[in-house]
Amino acid sequence: MRLWKELEAGGKIALFDASDADVILRSSDDVSFKVYRKDLEAYSDGFVGPPSSIDEVEVVQLTETSRVLELLLQFMRRQRQPSFKDVDFNVLDGLAEAAEKYEVFSATEPCKIWMSAAASSHPVEVLSYAMKHDYTELANQCAVHTIGLDVDSTLKRLPPNAQLPWLRYCYKWHNVVPDLLRYKNPIQCRRKSPPDGPPCALWSEFYARVAEKFARGGLKVLQPGEIGSVFRIAEETTGIEDCPKCVLRTRFKMAGSRRAVGPAAKIHQIHHFVVA
Ligand SMILES: [Zn+2]
Repeated sequence: MRLWKELEAGGKIALFDASDADVILRSSDDVSFKVYRKDLEAYSDGFVGPPSSIDEVEVVQLTETSRVLELLLQFMRRQRQPSFKDVDFNVLDGLAEAAEKYEVFSATEPCKIWMSAAASSHPVEVLSYAMKHDYTELANQCAVHTIGLDVDSTLKRLPPNAQLPWLRYCYKWHNVVPDLLRYKNPIQCRRKSPPDGPPCALWSEFYARVAEKFARGGLKVLQPGEIGSVFRIAEETTGIEDCPKCVLRTRFKMAGSRRAVGPAAKIHQIHHFVVA
């Protein structure tokens, strides 16, 4: 039997320093975690192979950092789950990946929730994670934040199974926008004018505000859930409610815009189409 001293290269974490442990997990930054085989077998898959017949402590070199392992292993024994509140995103990303890799199911769902909270601040990383592990709702949630990002650098950061769906997703969106912004006007609303008089100016002003909002807000405001608020704000600021004909047109225009963006809004549908 090898001596503990010999096995304990690098540092160690006080939480995982049991003297009767039968496995040492060694992190990529050379920190040792003394753990019990029974915990690894009960809570995960893939950390260790079948037990050896020789009565010897098993040493397993892992690719995860000590910070990731320190958190992950806390999901693998009887204790309160650790808080992610002050965890750096890179650690969370590594933890979420490790939880999937070793099938630590007690950690996968909490990781998913925290990754979801980072969807707008780290959209490419969260999209990669979501597409890799087939979390469709999360993929749709963060995909919108990736529209308009630099194509080359984003592709480099996405896993292979997400690259083509992402390109097609962006392409669809970029086709939708010119359609929405095409100005079919001036609409000859003459409700307040004599039949041969100048057209009502409200529609033109309203439409200019909608177009400006779409252009300034980028594709993010073109989500089906956001379109209504763009139209509502434009209505309120132009006083278009004074002209019932124009109000009716805004309703048609809004419905048409929602129909146009609906099919382009889901990256997971594109993803599954490609996979199928
Ligand atoms: Zn009008």
